[in-house]
Amino acid sequence: MKPFDTLRSVLQSIDGKDYGAYQSLLGTYRHPAFELRITQIPKDPYAPPHTGMYCVVVNRDQAGFPSDCTSNRIRSIAFRDYLARMFFENCHVHCKGRRGTGNSGVITIAEPLQEILDRTSVVVNDVTIEVRFFIGLPATKRSIRSDIAQTMFFEELPAIIQNSLYAANLDLADLQKHIETAEDAEFLRNQLAEHNLVSFLADGSILPRASGVDPSPLKRDNAICFTSPETMQVSFTLPNHGPITGMGIPTGVTLIVGGGYHGKSTLLDAVSLGVYNHIPGDGREFCVTSPGAVKVRAFSGRSVRSTDISAFINNIPGESSTESFTTENASGSTSQAASIAEMIEVGADVLLMDEDTCAANFMIRDRRMQQLVAKANEPITAFVDVIRLLYTDHNISTVLVMGGSGDYFDVCDTVIQMTNYVPSDVTTEAKEVAQNNPTGRLQEGGHTLKLPSLRIPSAENINPHNEYGGFRINTSDREHLIFGSEKINCSDLEQLVEPEQVKAIGRAIFHISEAMNSSTSIQELLNAILKDISESGLDLLDQRFTGDLSKFRIFELAGVLNRMRSLKCNTLF
Ligand code: ADP
Ligand code: MG
Repeated sequence: MKPFDTLRSVLQSIDGKDYGAYQSLLGTYRHPAFELRITQIPKDPYAPPHTGMYCVVVNRDQAGFPSDCTSNRIRSIAFRDYLARMFFENCHVHCKGRRGTGNSGVITIAEPLQEILDRTSVVVNDVTIEVRFFIGLPATKRSIRSDIAQTMFFEELPAIIQNSLYAANLDLADLQKHIETAEDAEFLRNQLAEHNLVSFLADGSILPRASGVDPSPLKRDNAICFTSPETMQVSFTLPNHGPITGMGIPTGVTLIVGGGYHGKSTLLDAVSLGVYNHIPGDGREFCVTSPGAVKVRAFSGRSVRSTDISAFINNIPGESSTESFTTENASGSTSQAASIAEMIEVGADVLLMDEDTCAANFMIRDRRMQQLVAKANEPITAFVDVIRLLYTDHNISTVLVMGGSGDYFDVCDTVIQMTNYVPSDVTTEAKEVAQNNPTGRLQEGGHTLKLPSLRIPSAENINPHNEYGGFRINTSDREHLIFGSEKINCSDLEQLVEPEQVKAIGRAIFHISEAMNSSTSIQELLNAILKDISESGLDLLDQRFTGDLSKFRIFELAGVLNRMRSLKCNTLF
């Protein structure tokens, strides 16, 4: 380990030289307040952040945080999440930002959004706090700017570290609230099953978001706070926050109805993201959903590999069987059927669906259509004939936004109506309407439902190397995974929230591809890697200990894997 001041003399000696001379900074440096490890330096100033590896380590005794910040798993995750946020914010406060070519002058860390997540950007053990971040070493064109680099290392970086990793400089009440909020949300989520609920939304929550591209909450003045209908009220006592009341969505089949623009999708989105814990101030801190809840939708054009969609679709023109359905170009209905089957394959027990993103012919087939187009000529068993069996035969609940068809009144348990963003329980009214206005529909698709068959994946075509032989598992944004020479579109997986999750999924796919053989199912492989991660941590996915991986669920991992065009599978009948 070298004294921190060594950095200054090295920087002075390489001033004006070619960018490559920055490689002489590799090493570990001792500053009184931290240790800096520089283990990988990009070869040019345009290189993206993931190509540099910089890490600071602070001694926990010196940092001075109370030991109860890490007294259990969830508190520890929230603590690390908080430090990542502080580091990110302080980068903006204390670093002047881009100065020079490409990323010159930037100090940053993977940006945390609204969710409190397990990430590799901040790792804590009993002795140390380790932060993995990025420094854009400064240059004009390719000429090293030693003056700027010295400012970054000797003024900006120490200020960022002092103000984000030392307890004395932080608002400890704010930190405690962060940790306690996560702990309460986790507690609440753990109560759901016992109370036969799939989701809970606390009174006073703010569900709408600032905009379609900004996940922060809509300003309080413009938002109507959530209030639960009396008949659906449930109360809990949270370990930190104390008593709380809100709407419990029961297991079974739940419809969300109401006029256009009255807040149906916003409610479902809050349910959908309730699988995560949210930061204080998000507005959805105490909106929690069963960990097995998956939002599914139509996504035409996606690929499908040997997926058993026979519960939903049969006798497609030109296909021998839909028990092992493969296509390069799924239609709206087949993509939706495949997505549901694939999620059930890995254990989803709540389906969340919104008519806005469903295929109409997958959802409804009314009496008139039944008369005009004989069932023999309609491969699809409309979801209205499946939704009840999923629950009665297999304990899979559905929460469905359906403002457009009352045919679902016959097959649901609960109906929530949104009126001016306020929910009411209209179950009794809906059942009365159903009784007084029979649809005349014939039930189609049989009286029992077979779950999709399992599949065994093959690693034959899965290759993380691109056409130039480079190992590439990366992401440009939340919506795409770059895996070798393939770019996988996962934009329909709405419960992915951070690009770092997509990247971690890419790494996980690489790991499981090495474990693929002729007898292990997708379900077994995915469960095994998630178990390994929960035991050993996300660093398991990349032995270089990078700071750009975030925790994901089995469903999003399966979602991305199933969208890979290089995937091959055998169906296990
Ligand atoms: P629907 O699905 O019923 O058509 P949305 O959920 O898309 O309606 O909501 C319509 C608009 O109203 C969106 O712009 C949304 O952000 C906004 N909105 C939803 N809930 C609220 C609320 N509680 N307070 C204020 N605005 C809301
Ligand atoms: Mg909508």
